[in-house]
Amino acid sequence: MNTAKLIDGKAAANRVLKQVKADVQRLKRKGIEPALAVILVGQDPASEVYVRNKILRAEESGIRSLEYRLVANSSQAELLALIATLNADASVNGILLQLPLPAHFEEARALQAIDPRKDVDGFHSENVGGLSQGRDVLTPCTPSGCMQLLEDACGDLSGKHAVVIGRSNIVGKPMAALLLQAHCSVTVVHSRSTDAKALCQLADIVVAAVGRPRMIDASWLKPGAVVIDVGINRIEENGRSRLVGDVDFDSALPQVSAITPVPGGVGPMTIAFLMKNTVTAAVQQAHAQRSQSEAVCLSTY
Ligand code: NDP
Repeated sequence: MNTAKLIDGKAAANRVLKQVKADVQRLKRKGIEPALAVILVGQDPASEVYVRNKILRAEESGIRSLEYRLVANSSQAELLALIATLNADASVNGILLQLPLPAHFEEARALQAIDPRKDVDGFHSENVGGLSQGRDVLTPCTPSGCMQLLEDACGDLSGKHAVVIGRSNIVGKPMAALLLQAHCSVTVVHSRSTDAKALCQLADIVVAAVGRPRMIDASWLKPGAVVIDVGINRIEENGRSRLVGDVDFDSALPQVSAITPVPGGVGPMTIAFLMKNTVTAAVQQAHAQRSQSEAVCLSTY
């Protein structure tokens, strides 16, 4: 395999985490201890693993982590009450609600209840709106991680044609917004697109976020394209279970100039950017607190 083509997400995530750790140490010297609260409702095994990994990374980065567990049959009111408590707690900088929630919850309402300043997943409408307006807000972790990988692989993205496959609120839409902010021409294709493949063949950059194992093979790709594979699909192959992306890696590799593997591509970047967002939130909250106390001081004169 041509390793020059391989975008190493683990190495990139380690670089981000190293910077996060240094930032946390610097903040602690100033009396600021970034803290992340993670809420898990129910006992979905995949969510358990994600939460464990997030807490582990937080601890390694020096971020204080707090884990809140609600049983699967908790009510929406109980969840909202917990979120309200965490919103009001000045020692908590980031709140992450692990998705998916059990079916009886209103996910959108729960996400919307999180204080946008503590919304380290970037899913609150205030942050979503801010991103689409190009404001400096907390942005979703997976697309932010993809952007870092693209910038590392391509340098300046300005003028490039990017095709995003998938339009979810979590990946596809924020990804398109970030690429647009980086001055790409952006096409978003989805399940109703009449010829997703033909559009994809025109792309300098392809970001696949579909959830269909190996859907995109070499015939979808322009020679020299850069491919970011967000997909994580568990399949059974030759009698064993394995993870594969939305891109047929072996078919695509000879055609592309760079590609992320699955696993070891986008996945590690998602957690790294969660840590980065937590530090950003802590810094922004400290600034806001300082301006508030300065305002109080000034108002006494
Ligand atoms: P969703 O199911 O929410 O969205 C999938 C998108 O793909 C939809 O917009 C859908 O279109 C589109 N789509 C489905 N079929 C086709 C098709 N044949 N052609 C073109 N578009 C199609 O998934 P997510 O965005 O949440 O996740 C996508 C993948 O990324 C999953 O494998 C998920 O596991 C993975 N993921 C990985 C993360 C990581 O950290 N690496 C983080 C988050 C997700 P339509 O809107 O029309 O239905």
